[in-house]
Amino acid sequence: MTLGNARARFGCGIRHEVGAELASLGAGRAMILSTPEQADMALEIAADLGQRAAGVFTLAAMHTPVAVTEEALAHTLSVGADSLVAIGGGSTIGLAKALAFRTDLPQIVIPTTYAGSEATPILGQTENGVKTTLSNPKVLPEVILYDPELVVSLPRRMTVNSSLNAMAHAAEALYARDRTPESTEIALDGLKAFVAGLPDVVADLSDLEAREATLRGAWACGTVLGRVGMALHHKLCHTLGGTFDLPHADVHAVILPHAIHFNAAAVPELLAPMARLLGGAAPGPAIWDFGVAIGAPVALRDLGLEERQIGRAVELSMEKPYWNPREVTPEGLRSLLRNAWSGNPPDA
Ligand code: NAD
Repeated sequence: MTLGNARARFGCGIRHEVGAELASLGAGRAMILSTPEQADMALEIAADLGQRAAGVFTLAAMHTPVAVTEEALAHTLSVGADSLVAIGGGSTIGLAKALAFRTDLPQIVIPTTYAGSEATPILGQTENGVKTTLSNPKVLPEVILYDPELVVSLPRRMTVNSSLNAMAHAAEALYARDRTPESTEIALDGLKAFVAGLPDVVADLSDLEAREATLRGAWACGTVLGRVGMALHHKLCHTLGGTFDLPHADVHAVILPHAIHFNAAAVPELLAPMARLLGGAAPGPAIWDFGVAIGAPVALRDLGLEERQIGRAVELSMEKPYWNPREVTPEGLRSLLRNAWSGNPPDA
């Protein structure tokens, strides 16, 4: 299947097709990338590739630090690699994208979380504690291999939060200012895949059929993230995660029902299909019920935010204005964050 420039293939054991995919790209010497925790997965790919593995670099890290990219770049150039293979979550894929941005080498990525970075031309990088983001066609991977067997080791909490993070991209795509009929269709496909597959994954983390269904959701949600702009939910999560050092995917899981409920007051017709998919009357409460049923975190206080920090979060969120379908006021934000901090449902 192809959307844009990336080719996506799904299936148990599809990771063993890396050699064939390299050949179809006209490449023969791949640099294989992973985090230290997933070095065994990288070594399995290297063993599969034999002589076609030019090197293995297992130091990928969260938020794509430029210093790590420079070390990986030196290694990649020194062994004469002509292609990149990333196996892992958004951090490893971020490193492949950073190398592709600097070298234009083709990328084959094998995602092992639901974050969706593999399907976007977006690269976020960190230098001296500052994160900057760019969008460039060179950054979009050429081939994506989704192998459900690699995702079964993703722990329950990360499975739930990473999925809700992906669903948040699709939810905000439904009301994006630059949405198109096609982006809306992709967003709804992504949400549908998670609604259908995630409860089965949570019931049995090794359910390969349900894991594949949710990976299809990740692909759709990542694709739509690469096509349209995000709004309140994402801006708020970035402020909370960045300023108060809260876990990124967990914050997404907590904020999603509240942000959707807030915006549903302005664009009920755009969010109605999401409520219908979830089997609820209103989208905010419906995604809340879905999250609770699969064990998602519901309170910012449980993630480490202190009550007195709500005021600072409101101030920071108001500092840089951005487009949102409903006007964001300090009072509105405070009320949203109070609910999310306490663990109340969004319509409480
Ligand atoms: P991650 O890649 O940081 O992985 C978290 C940890 O889980 C790592 O230690 C990793 O090795 C481990 N892990 C991953 N898959 C596993 C598996 N199947 N089994 C066991 N352990 C596994 O987490 P993430 O949430 O995928 O990525 C987050 C990063 O991706 C952030 O930096 C975020 O900004 C970025 N991101 C970028 C985009 C984009 O379009 N540029 C989109 C989404 C996320």
